[in-house]
Amino acid sequence: MQPAVTLRDVSHHYGGTAALRGVSLSVAEGSVLAVVGPNGAGKTTLIRAIAGVIDPTGEVLIDGDAAQHIDRRRIGILPQAFTPARRLTPRELIRYHAARYDAYPDPAAVCARVGLGLSELDRPFERLSGGQQRRVCVAMAIAHEPALLLLDEPTAGIDPAGRRALWDELERIGEAGTTMIITSHSFAEVDRLADEVCILDDGAVLASDTPADLVGAVAGGHRLQVTPAPPSL
Ligand code: ADP
Repeated sequence: MQPAVTLRDVSHHYGGTAALRGVSLSVAEGSVLAVVGPNGAGKTTLIRAIAGVIDPTGEVLIDGDAAQHIDRRRIGILPQAFTPARRLTPRELIRYHAARYDAYPDPAAVCARVGLGLSELDRPFERLSGGQQRRVCVAMAIAHEPALLLLDEPTAGIDPAGRRALWDELERIGEAGTTMIITSHSFAEVDRLADEVCILDDGAVLASDTPADLVGAVAGGHRLQVTPAPPSL
């Protein structure tokens, strides 16, 4: 079967800065790829290349078609820094956003998929907690039922409990069959939901494998041994 996403030797420069340096990877349909790396590794640039927002060198294919030319309805994207109109409610935001893609879902059902209840549905965005706001943004990204979901640091700025809950919701969305590419700077946050993890550093792929095999490769031959000092007499 053809991969949902294929990158071949993708590079991108911002002026003199190399943000991506020869990245090649592929994502199977229905699977979840986590792209992990420190700040400046190139994660956002990678998401923007797959979304067709920038035109890097090399090849970016979505279901075999050039990313720049595909029907935008096939992709849902949550940018890292994204704030929708703050006075609108989740119901209004979801309706407005989905309609741009000719989709007319039930906002309550979309909210339920990201763990938002009826009590949040008609509250202005600006009066929701940080975690609830980020959920609304995820809800907007999935509202038109994209086959491919791109999430750039979806839990950035959320408290630890909210993060865990949102990762659980994202895991459920992945299990329901949506192909997802998610960036994070923390391997520990994504190892449970990712089928594959790509470690990106300085614009290049350091390693790409299943979470278990990555841990095995790194932790494999090492053991931490602690020998207590003899008690002083
Ligand atoms: P990450 O998402 O992993 O933090 P980015 O893709 O945002 O990484 O950035 C990769 C590199 O490209 C960094 O060195 C960053 O400073 C640089 N960069 C990103 N966006 C721009 C831009 N619009 N103009 C110039 N340099 C940029």
